Amino acid sequence: MSAYADRLEALAADAADRCTECGKCFEVCPTARETGLDAGEARTRVGELIVLTRRASEGAGAAAEGLQGWLNACDGSAQCNAACPEDINVRQWITIAKMKTVEATRPLEASAGAAASRFRHMAQAVRLLASMQLPSDTLKKILAPAEKRTADVIFYTGCNVLRTPHIVLNVMDILDGMRLDFDVVGGTAHCCGVYQFQEADLPTYEKIGHRTFNRLGQSGASQILTWCPTCTKNFDELEKDVAAPSFGLDHVSEFLAANIDELKKYFVDQPKRCVVIHEHQGIGATLDSMRRLMRAVPNLELIELPQDSGFSYACGGQAAKFKDREKAIHRGLAEAAVAAGADTIVTMYHSCHRALAGAEAIYPLKVVNFTDVIAEAMGRGGHPDYYRLYKAGGPMDEAVSAAAKFLANNGVKLDQNSVQSLTADIFNETGLDGGREAFATAFAELAGPSQRG
Ligand code: SF4
Ligand code: SF4
Repeated sequence: MSAYADRLEALAADAADRCTECGKCFEVCPTARETGLDAGEARTRVGELIVLTRRASEGAGAAAEGLQGWLNACDGSAQCNAACPEDINVRQWITIAKMKTVEATRPLEASAGAAASRFRHMAQAVRLLASMQLPSDTLKKILAPAEKRTADVIFYTGCNVLRTPHIVLNVMDILDGMRLDFDVVGGTAHCCGVYQFQEADLPTYEKIGHRTFNRLGQSGASQILTWCPTCTKNFDELEKDVAAPSFGLDHVSEFLAANIDELKKYFVDQPKRCVVIHEHQGIGATLDSMRRLMRAVPNLELIELPQDSGFSYACGGQAAKFKDREKAIHRGLAEAAVAAGADTIVTMYHSCHRALAGAEAIYPLKVVNFTDVIAEAMGRGGHPDYYRLYKAGGPMDEAVSAAAKFLANNGVKLDQNSVQSLTADIFNETGLDGGREAFATAFAELAGPSQRG
C-alpha cells in the first residue's frame, strides 16, 4: 500500500476511534432518509461503519448490507459533520469507507476501466463545450501546466466549469479588477481525480488528483482559490488532511467575501433587482460568503427563502441519483422565487447553473451566476452565457455563430456523433429547460452532413 493510501486509512481509523456511536450523523442524513433507511437504526449503522473501518486495515473490507445502503446513498451533503458532537468529519470518513468497500469487492482492473470511461466522457464534453465558447488563446492560458505558473495567487478552475466558461471569465475579471497578480489553472490535465477516487482506482487517483494538488504547490503560489465544489471538497478531505499544503486553500467566494471592503471600492451603480440564491450547504463558508457578496451589491435586494439547501452540496454529481428530489428542488425554488417577487435566481456553482439556466424558458426569471453579478457590479463581466441559450431552447443563432467562430479558432470540428452526445449530455442532466430540439437541430446543421453519408 502507498504512503498516501496508508494516510487515508489512518484518517478513517482516527474517526472510528473518536466516535462515541451516538448515531446523530445517521439520524440527520437526508439521503439515508430519501432511500428509506430507518433513523431508528442509527447506532447499528455507525457500529457497522466502525467494524468495517477496523477490518479494512486487515484487507477484508466488504460492508454489512445496511451500511452499504448508507454508503451508496451518500451524496456528500455534510449534514452529518454539522451534527457530530465530536467534530468528526463524518463525510470524509464515509467517503473513504465507500472507496474501501469498492476496492475490496471489485478487481482493480474493473475499477480503473469504470473510472477511465467516466473521465473520457467528461473530458470529451468539456473539450467540445469549451472550444465552442472560448477563444484559443484564453483556453491555452487556462490549460498551461500549473507547476510553471509564477503568480502568488492561483485561481484553480477544475474541469467542469469549462462547460460554462463565462463563469471563469467573470472570476478573471473580478480578480483583475481587484488588481491582483494571479494565474488561472484548469482543464482535464489538472483534474482533482474525483472519478478515480469514487471508483476506487487509487493508483490512478494518485497520478491525477494527488498529483494536481502537488503541482499547485510546485508553482510556489501562497494561495489557491478553488471554484468547483467537488474539487474543494476533495482537496480539503483527501489532500489537505493527508498532508498539510504549503499554500492556503479557499473557495473564490470565501476569498471575495473576506475582501469585501476592497471589492466594494470598485462597485459602480447597478440597476434595481430582486434576487434569490439557489442555496447549497456543505462546502465551507461558501453560502454565507455568497449571501454577504449579494448584500453588498448596490440596488440589489436579496430575498432569503426557505429551501432544501441541505440535501446536497451542489446540483448533479452524486446528487444526480435522486432525480425526482432534484427536480422538486429546482421547480420549488423557481416557483417560490416568482411568488416572492424575485426577478433573478443566482446560482452558486457551475453544475447548479447548468441545471437552472433554462428556467428562463418557463418562468419570468433571469438566471445568473453570482460571478455574473459581482463582475457586472465592478463594471466588468457581461460575457455571453451561451449555455443558457442552449438550455432555454429559443433562437440559437447567436450561440451557433459564436460556436462556429470559436471552433474554427480552436481547430476543433463538430460531427453528428459529437452533437448527439453533447445534446444528451446537456439535456439528460436534471434541471429546467426549454427542450432539446432547438439545440440539437441548430448544432446538427453546424456539424454538416454525416461523414457516413
Ligand atoms: S455526507 Fe450527507 S449524505 Fe453523506 S452520510 Fe453525511 S449526511 Fe449523509
Ligand atoms: S455523530 Fe459523530 S460521534 Fe456520533 S455516531 Fe456519528 S461520527 Fe460518531
